[in-house]
Amino acid sequence: MNLFDLKGKVAVVTGGNGGIGLGMAQGIASLGARIVIAGRNKDKASVALKTLHDAGAEAVFVVADVTKKADCQALITETHRVYSRLDILVNNAGTSIRKMPQDFTEAEWHQVMDTNLTSAFLCGQAAYPAMVAAGGGKMINIGSMMSLFGAPYTTPYAASKGGIVQMTRALATAWAKDNIQVNAVLPGWIDTDLTRRAREHVPNLHDSVEKRTPHGRWGTPSDMAGIAAFLASSASDFVTGTAIPVDGGFSIGM
Ligand code: NDP
Repeated sequence: MNLFDLKGKVAVVTGGNGGIGLGMAQGIASLGARIVIAGRNKDKASVALKTLHDAGAEAVFVVADVTKKADCQALITETHRVYSRLDILVNNAGTSIRKMPQDFTEAEWHQVMDTNLTSAFLCGQAAYPAMVAAGGGKMINIGSMMSLFGAPYTTPYAASKGGIVQMTRALATAWAKDNIQVNAVLPGWIDTDLTRRAREHVPNLHDSVEKRTPHGRWGTPSDMAGIAAFLASSASDFVTGTAIPVDGGFSIGM
């Protein structure tokens, strides 16, 4: 029995063309799965594809704006056309707009909610029939420390990431009968384009994260590879509905 063998399996990773998504794609690919990375930026995607191919993975890029239901459906259709199956979906695409709550426009609220939460629901819905056809599947949704905590500049982001946890639980109960496990990962502070923007905006963010994190450092996208590999593989077949912090201890210290 090899609990960590994904040969023959196919994984879709939204936002897999950079940051945490690429780290997770690398973790899943290292177990032998074929990878579809999805996003909007083709230049970033060609660099990501090269990284995956250089490591010996089979991988393609599909252009998709996951805020659009039609793109979510087309992503799954294209995955089926290329690889004839789908076993693993990582709902990683995400964005943030940092403002005080009273300053958000309605459009900005929807932009964050649609990118971070509604997209995960729509991609999940689109992926469900293919996973049922495959005899089961793994869905990994990306939350945040903002699934647990609040902060003044993060209202729609925190709402979307709190929603990810509850949506994960609801989907896990609904789809267990189909042998689909649905789990959330809550990354701590990870060095990516997203947090580089936050560090420009928030004085001392870099140092305060280092100080509060028991491991004493920021995470890297490759720190996300192991949890993705675990939740994508049969090692986690009895794990569902969880929200697992991967944060160097950020959420358990003071
Ligand atoms: P990045 O900005 O590096 O990556 C975000 C990814 O999402 C990009 O690859 C982007 O691709 C994709 N994306 C954004 N909007 C869309 C869209 N509408 N359609 C398709 N793809 C989209 O950030 P991170 O890697 O840091 O973030 C990844 C996830 O991890 C997000 O959900 C984020 O909230 C979460 N997270 C990050 C943390 C961190 O510390 N970095 C901490 C906790 C959670 P493209 O531009 O090509 O569309």
